[in-house]
Amino acid sequence: MLTTAARMAAIKPSATAAVAAKVKQLKAQNRDIISLSIGVPGFLPPDYVYEAAQKALENDSGNYLPVRGLPVLINAYQQRLAADGFEYKPEEICITMGGKNALYNLLQILTEQGDDVVFPAPYWVSYPEIALLAGARPVAVYAGTKTDYKVTAEQLDKAINSGTKAFIFNNPCNPTGAVYTKQEVAALAEVLKKHPKVWIISDDIYDKLIYDGQAFHHLLHVAPELRERLFIIQSVSKTYGMPGWRIGMAAGPAEVIQKMEMLVSQSLMNIPASTQAGAAAALTGPLDFLASYKQQFVRNRDYVLKELYDIPGFVCPRTSGAFYLFPQIKTFIGKKAKSGKTLMTDVDFCEELLEEQGVALVPGSPSGDSWAVRISYATEHATLVEAIKRLRTFVQNLS
Ligand code: PLP
Repeated sequence: MLTTAARMAAIKPSATAAVAAKVKQLKAQNRDIISLSIGVPGFLPPDYVYEAAQKALENDSGNYLPVRGLPVLINAYQQRLAADGFEYKPEEICITMGGKNALYNLLQILTEQGDDVVFPAPYWVSYPEIALLAGARPVAVYAGTKTDYKVTAEQLDKAINSGTKAFIFNNPCNPTGAVYTKQEVAALAEVLKKHPKVWIISDDIYDKLIYDGQAFHHLLHVAPELRERLFIIQSVSKTYGMPGWRIGMAAGPAEVIQKMEMLVSQSLMNIPASTQAGAAAALTGPLDFLASYKQQFVRNRDYVLKELYDIPGFVCPRTSGAFYLFPQIKTFIGKKAKSGKTLMTDVDFCEELLEEQGVALVPGSPSGDSWAVRISYATEHATLVEAIKRLRTFVQNLS
């Protein structure tokens, strides 16, 4: 009998991709569907990004390119890091095929069978799967609504033990939008200082999407001594509206970055020059274009929250980052939808909402919280108004 590798049996397909496929299928049937399920910012990058990419195509050498990334992009990222208060040399940087690929490569390099990878829950859906693919064991530390979905130092302290090889910290967080304060980051840093054998992966890809006058606080800002075992993961996907360009960046200790270069040379080889040039232009360009999008995000978030607070049953922390809200839906579990189906899980809730009202949300269970759903508010305001109206009708129809 033909067989495939056992490690593939342990992993699941991406939940967000599954919802997207269902949305596509229903749209193909001419159903009126509104999707608040996707993790894209909903805007395109500035014109100079396209111009830089175009120019790179015109000057194409047709050759393979440097594995770790083109100097133009490495330098651009170095500048962006410096602007954010981090000093990194070019040999401490590797360009990757999106932030996801940076995380995948890192866990392949840092972890193996028997290692634990600790991260706060709710978490980005790919963390457990990427850990499993490396043979490691995902260990989620649940942070509930009482702490606005933020894990505490005490919780982290309890979760880390001699089997812990890496800690992934995502701030602001997908799927909750949670943003950690300086004190909270400092408290986590104190715990991490006690565990010198734990690698730290800081997934900062939403760092520029923070609202309400809050600031971005990094573990390295409060504890620079963690630098020798910490990696910064970044991407142009969310900040610059470039998810399909697939450009991510990893910065960290040179010896590990060198191993990443080796891994890339034996797998991807290199990323196209045009997309690297576009990303370099994005990173070195001004960030003011973001201001109006951020304003729109805040308006949308405030609208969704006002509505959710007005519909009995939803519990949702008012979070200030990324473009997601993560309401708890526990009160609706056990109720019957208009179709006659009893909602037993978050997945039932999302499926029935999609079938009955044509609104797509992402169930919380693949993010480690089966009593919640994720709403992405990075969409046109009018679309959001219609979606929330339908969500309200769906919930009112429950019996
Ligand atoms: N990390 C988090 C928390 C994310 O939400 C995502 C994408 O949704 C990624 C990493 C990976 O993003 P990309 O591969 O597009 O850079």
